[in-house]
Formats: sequence, structure tokens, C-alpha cells
Amino acid sequence: MPRDSIKVSEIFGPTIQGEGALIGQPTVFVRTGGCDYRCAWCDTLHAVESEYRDQWLPMSSTEIFARIEELSGDTPLLVTLSGGNPAIHPLEPLIDLGHEKNYSFALETQGSMPRPWFSKLDVLTLSPKPPSSEIETDWLKLDSCVENGMKGKQKTHIVLKIIVRDKKDYAYARATSDRYPDLPVYLQPLNEQPDNERGKTQDGNNILRERDTVLDRTRWLAEFVIHDRWYKATVLPQLHVLLWGDKKGV
Ligand code: SF4
Repeated sequence: MPRDSIKVSEIFGPTIQGEGALIGQPTVFVRTGGCDYRCAWCDTLHAVESEYRDQWLPMSSTEIFARIEELSGDTPLLVTLSGGNPAIHPLEPLIDLGHEKNYSFALETQGSMPRPWFSKLDVLTLSPKPPSSEIETDWLKLDSCVENGMKGKQKTHIVLKIIVRDKKDYAYARATSDRYPDLPVYLQPLNEQPDNERGKTQDGNNILRERDTVLDRTRWLAEFVIHDRWYKATVLPQLHVLLWGDKKGV
């Protein structure tokens, strides 16, 4: 297998980024396959579970970038590297290739695999998982991810994005933000879909139900933050779910 072979679950777009610091920005998504976590509420199991492995296509950086250019009509834009955990894969050559042609790169990871090339990213979103995920955070690895992101000549914008389902998650989010006081923090309510609804073709009623759930949870979280006087935090819903429901590939 070539050294820069990357397992790709899907490449899609342009669409808009639906979460975090870059919300609303047009982007092409590259979703890699494979993850070292198994969060209780993972909403991208098709990029995590081994039963989907035969759907992950091994692609070189050149092949991935050619597809990005095709989708974007050769017009430089933001490329979002997501997963699974994209940090598993050797993504540095892809980032270099894209930068040569004025594309920018944002990567989202839980922060369990520090990589020196994080410093080449334009935006590094660290999304450590709260208690409701049933996964323990390895704080030293997360520290190391932040350090790696800060090492480069160019400035990588590093942000925290934390999902909040309940009060315990909220306390985790505050403690995490206190550990990294210089990083902006984005809070996102958990969008919980029952397992048997995931991945189904959606009718209009489903989308409306999801929208209500997202808005109710965002309202709860926003009121909690304001009541707690945590004015540093930014609360955002998943914009793509409000627009299109929990569909794959938008
Ligand atoms: S880290 Fe992300 S992709 Fe991996 S299991 Fe958790 S939610 Fe799913």
C-alpha cells in the first residue's frame, strides 16, 4: 500500500459547514474511515464500525485532491477533514497539495492522536468527548494535540468544540475550557436520534421532528450558559440538521 494511502468513507460537497467555528462556510468534506473511539452516541458509524470497512476506498492524496478540485470546480475553498478520526491517516501530503493551490484545511478530531502536521492546518477543531460518550479523555494526548497545532510557522487557529447532553457534560466542558483558557470554545447540544432512525431516508415529518429537537436542546444549553454567566462560550446548533435533517452526504 502506498505511504500516503488514506481510507476514505466519503467525499462530498460543496455544502456548508454545519458546526463550530466555521459554521456556514462553504466546504468540501473528506470523511476518512476508522476511529479509535466508540462513543455511545456516535452519529457517523458508517465511518467507524468495521462492518463498513469494505466501503472505505483506499485513495492517494493526489486522487483525493483531484476529487476535491472536481467538486469545487477548481475554485479554492475550505476542505474539512473529518471522520471517524482523521488523525489516524497520513494527511500531510494532501494538505501540502491543497495549500499549493490556495485551498484551506480544517480538521476535526477528538484529540487522541497528536500529529506534528497539525501545525500545517488552517483550523484545528479539538472535540474531546464528554462523559455521556462513555469514553475517558486522555488529557496528556489532548495537551499534545494543542502543542502540535501551535508549533508551526503559520498560525493554526485551534478551537474546542464540545458536545453537551446533560449537566455532567456541561461541567466537563467548563473544566476542559479552563484547562485551555486561550482556546475559543464552541458548545453543541447532542442531536440524539434513535438508532432505528439513523441512516433512513427522511420524510418531511422526520426533518421537522429533528429540527424541534435541535432547537429545544440548543435553547436549553443557551439558557444554561447565560444563567451560569459563562460568557466565553459560543452555543451553536447543528446547522446542517436544521436545514436538511440528519442525512448523510450534505
Ligand atoms: S470520536 Fe467521533 S467518529 Fe469516533 S466514535 Fe466518537 S463520535 Fe464517532
